[in-house]
Amino acid sequence: MKIVISEFMDEQSVDELRQRFDVVYDPKLVDKREELLRQLGDAQGLVVRNRTQVRPELLACAPQLRVVGRLGVGLDNIDVPACEARGIGVIPATGANALAVAEYVIASAMVLLRGSYLSSASVAAGDWPRAQLSEGRESAGKTLGLVGFGGIGRLTAQLAKALGMQVVAYDPMLDAGSPVWTATGARCASLDQLVAEADVVSLHVPLTDATRGLMNAERIGRMKPGAVLINTARGGIVDEAALAQALQGGRLAGAALDVFEDEPLPAGSVLAGVPNLILTPHIGGVTKESNERVSAMIAERVAEHLLGATTTEQSCQHLALQT
Ligand code: NAD
Repeated sequence: MKIVISEFMDEQSVDELRQRFDVVYDPKLVDKREELLRQLGDAQGLVVRNRTQVRPELLACAPQLRVVGRLGVGLDNIDVPACEARGIGVIPATGANALAVAEYVIASAMVLLRGSYLSSASVAAGDWPRAQLSEGRESAGKTLGLVGFGGIGRLTAQLAKALGMQVVAYDPMLDAGSPVWTATGARCASLDQLVAEADVVSLHVPLTDATRGLMNAERIGRMKPGAVLINTARGGIVDEAALAQALQGGRLAGAALDVFEDEPLPAGSVLAGVPNLILTPHIGGVTKESNERVSAMIAERVAEHLLGATTTEQSCQHLALQT
């Protein structure tokens, strides 16, 4: 059986798949559309990150496809109903990169609240901006507001609690009586309460019709003066122009964005040159360790899916022969 891997995967996991399958691994295949479609012509498995668009056009070129493994969590690059309609399993690496994202959020929150780690160029140039940088804030005692309280939100809450932060969270799928609140020590809040109270607002929701534009100009305007906004969830949830304006005007103390409306950012982005803004290229969930965990999980589950399917088919054929 053949598996096509169109984006980067940990080599050890690729080697493990090679022992049992015919594997085509090219981390740049995502950018060679024609070759990708050609390779899928006789493939049973496909492994992608977040750039390969698994849409009906691609599925039409992959008549034997049985499973798509996603080296990550969000499924917005995969047309799940179209896969389901064709009996193709979709397997995300749920939980395997959550710690990497949670640490990214806490590190960004600490850097931006303190505001003191962005002075390297001026200190190296002989300036001594001690007075301007003596008003940084500690994280302990501050309120972290988590929008979306699933796997990553809850892990982030746990790390924040260890720093002495208060945690409030908003998640319409969890009612106020859910045991999750006592288990995590987070307080259940409405979105309006959270936005008004939090010193740090961090987003952990999928991109849906309900979350697109969730942090628009109006909600950003209702954040506490001097608060910090962090988006590791998906681009399109934060209004980038409104955020740029809030940072330029000093209304917010800082922001960290790992995900964007358009990735990579287009030339002339409104985010270029904005102060107190940390920009990273969608690596919140990607560390050396998480890459190994994510790759190992997907290699194992994709193999199980394909070999399990084969075993079932073989036993069905066997039964059919017997009857
Ligand atoms: P999850 O499914 O465990 O949790 C998402 C939570 O959001 C759920 O509890 C759900 O009830 C809640 N939710 C859904 N709609 C909501 C709404 N309108 N308002 C508030 N809450 C809502 O997912 P997760 O693993 O915690 O991932 C969260 C996000 O992080 C996803 O968008 C995922 O794509 C993104 N992510 C990014 C990276 C990265 O590298 N930057 C890595 C992993 C995950």
